[in-house]
Amino acid sequence: MTASATQGTLTSAENTRGKHNFSAGPAVLPEAVIRRVQQDIWDIDGSGIGIMEHSHRGPVVDGVWERTEAACRKLANISDDYAIMYLQGGASTQFSMIPANLLPEGGTADYINTGAWSQKAIKEAKLYGTPHLAASSEDSNFDHIPTDLKCSDKPAYLHFTSNNTIFGTEFSDEPACPEGTFLVCDASSDIFSKPIDVSKYGVIYAGAQKNLGPSGVTLVIMRKDIAERCERTLPSMGMYKTHAENDSRYNTPPVFGVYVMGVVFEWILENGGLKGMAIRNAAKAQAIYDVLDAGFYKPHAKTGSRSMMNITFNCPSDDLNKVFLKEAQANSFDGLKGHRSVGGIRASVYNAFPAAGCQALAQFMRDFAQKNG
Ligand SMILES: *Cc1c(COP(=O)(O)O)cnc(C)c1O
Repeated sequence: MTASATQGTLTSAENTRGKHNFSAGPAVLPEAVIRRVQQDIWDIDGSGIGIMEHSHRGPVVDGVWERTEAACRKLANISDDYAIMYLQGGASTQFSMIPANLLPEGGTADYINTGAWSQKAIKEAKLYGTPHLAASSEDSNFDHIPTDLKCSDKPAYLHFTSNNTIFGTEFSDEPACPEGTFLVCDASSDIFSKPIDVSKYGVIYAGAQKNLGPSGVTLVIMRKDIAERCERTLPSMGMYKTHAENDSRYNTPPVFGVYVMGVVFEWILENGGLKGMAIRNAAKAQAIYDVLDAGFYKPHAKTGSRSMMNITFNCPSDDLNKVFLKEAQANSFDGLKGHRSVGGIRASVYNAFPAAGCQALAQFMRDFAQKNG
């Protein structure tokens, strides 16, 4: 029996839990996914055993691995030149694993600094070589995506953060990659939210807990020739080669997280694929940006750099921010408090966040502005 034959479709867009969950991460999952997961925690594929209780080397998990990889390759059109890995330690572990494996001793790698996550990646690169700052928007508290890149002569790679979860900015296109090197992208908060040409990248990595599933698993998509490289002596668990060669099962992998991610991939496929996600996400975000553009609120991100995933803004005063958050909470809008480095309000509206929730927030914001303007 296949999962889809027994368990119905994943197309329902309902939200019956009574809360609009704007959490930045871990974040809301599609209700249709949660319902299937509930069932499979109890008994997956008619095996009489739940997904968390199966051996990671048994046939049921083999099936989960096959379905997950197939769905991932299909939705982003990922060729066999790329390895798909499921690692642990979050995106934060990738900050050091990337330079440890791919930055030669004494070498230089280029980084675009678009916020706190980029800065953390740069910090780890210093342990292994010289990160060169190709561009930065730090001078204006990361309110835009810098476009003028000054790359070094022969960087090992060019690293960027495609969506800046804290500041609410997002690359609309990949930065131009210097000849003879490859792009490395931290896509933790916008992966699979829109079409992506994977062939333009050497490495894409993302912690699952924003757009893909539960925390505890990190998706790494890496060109196979890059995954084979390792610039220094490292522990087995710290080498991409180990995980690529062992199908992410060198040790016990985060089976449950991989399984949920696979169901989310199938949910994306059944709901219009990446194109469908992009259309839906643009309309969702626009409903809120329209309110920001009508005055009263102070958006953080500059037009042209706005994120479709994290919408950041302040009320005219800090006191009003507090009133806003209190009234929002009382009206079932959860998780809207902004990160301390921007303050105010952040609405995270990843793939799984329902469109109706964005419309409800937009209406709440209009009412609040009218009352307090
Ligand atoms: C959340 C986030 C991270 C950190 O992810 P962990 O899985 O907690 O390590 C890194 N980069 C970006 C862009 C993020 O949004």
